[in-house]
Amino acid sequence: MATITINKENFYYNLNQIALKTGSVEKIAVVLKDNAYGHGLELMAGLAHDFGIKHAVVKNIKEAQAIRYLFKTVLVLKDDIVADEVISFTINTLSDIANAQEGARVELKVDTGMHRNGIALHEVEEALSEIEEKGLNLVGVMTHFRAADVLSSELFWQKKNFEIVKKKVMVSGFKNVRFHSHNSAAILRAKEFDEGLVRAGIAIYGYNELPSSYDEVALKPVLKLFAKKTATRILNKSQRVGYAGDFTAPKDMTVSTYDLGYGDGWTRTENNNAYMTAEGLPILGRVSMDFISLESEKKEVLIMDNAQEAAKHFGTISYEMTTGLSKDIERVVV
Ligand SMILES: *Cc1c(COP(=O)(O)O)cnc(C)c1O
Repeated sequence: MATITINKENFYYNLNQIALKTGSVEKIAVVLKDNAYGHGLELMAGLAHDFGIKHAVVKNIKEAQAIRYLFKTVLVLKDDIVADEVISFTINTLSDIANAQEGARVELKVDTGMHRNGIALHEVEEALSEIEEKGLNLVGVMTHFRAADVLSSELFWQKKNFEIVKKKVMVSGFKNVRFHSHNSAAILRAKEFDEGLVRAGIAIYGYNELPSSYDEVALKPVLKLFAKKTATRILNKSQRVGYAGDFTAPKDMTVSTYDLGYGDGWTRTENNNAYMTAEGLPILGRVSMDFISLESEKKEVLIMDNAQEAAKHFGTISYEMTTGLSKDIERVVV
């Protein structure tokens, strides 16, 4: 079986880098949605807890239930809103308030410019009074930046809008509300930080997706992907390997089959340039559902040790490379 290793030291290194920006570990909420960006939800939650992280963010209630015992708070980004002592729920629309269970802990998401989720700026007062009428417990107010990783002033425009929201919340008399807006790019860009919490995703896994013109915070990739050999054969010159025989042996060569394919979440593209494994071996021919071929006899090969580098080959981003990896791949802490 293909294997994923999780480097605990690198994970803690990244958390420390973020803590330097926020000023405290207590202000970090780790974003563990989508199986912790493919790293393994419960495993990463456990490591984060051991490090001293108190807050987590996940996609739905199913993920939240699996890890709630490890944290002081777990924020669900999108699901039905029910009352729970640890789990809080994002309010994305006014109708979310109407449908919420009385007594639920909620965090109001305000659309300050991304236009995907959250209530509009002009709906803030209405939302706050409906939250009160409905008997919901407002524990947070949040927004999400659309371009924190882009060299432009857009981030500042959204921040300004969020400052207006904060004032509205404060004058309306709600107490003990935490304000949060920073994702990884905004954290890494931040010169000073004055909110109660950050929502750190990709950075904790070791990727800084900011253009290099920003202050470089060097992070360390946490995940490595390995595949195991299932068979070895001699390919004679001009024999072809894999579906459609896309790869033709230019010489006699020893080729092995390894147990990784698009069924495991590895990317299959019709790209004329072969993907180079982290050890510099080109993948020969097409990626099958569960197998690839490499010119190697090693029992185990390192396919990827840096998702950002791998993503360049496939024309995507680190997020997609790791998040797609199957839950069934064994994950081990090293
Ligand atoms: C996914 C997500 C994050 C984390 O974003 P990164 O860029 O991975 O740090 C933060 N906030 C919200 C609302 C998200 O959906």
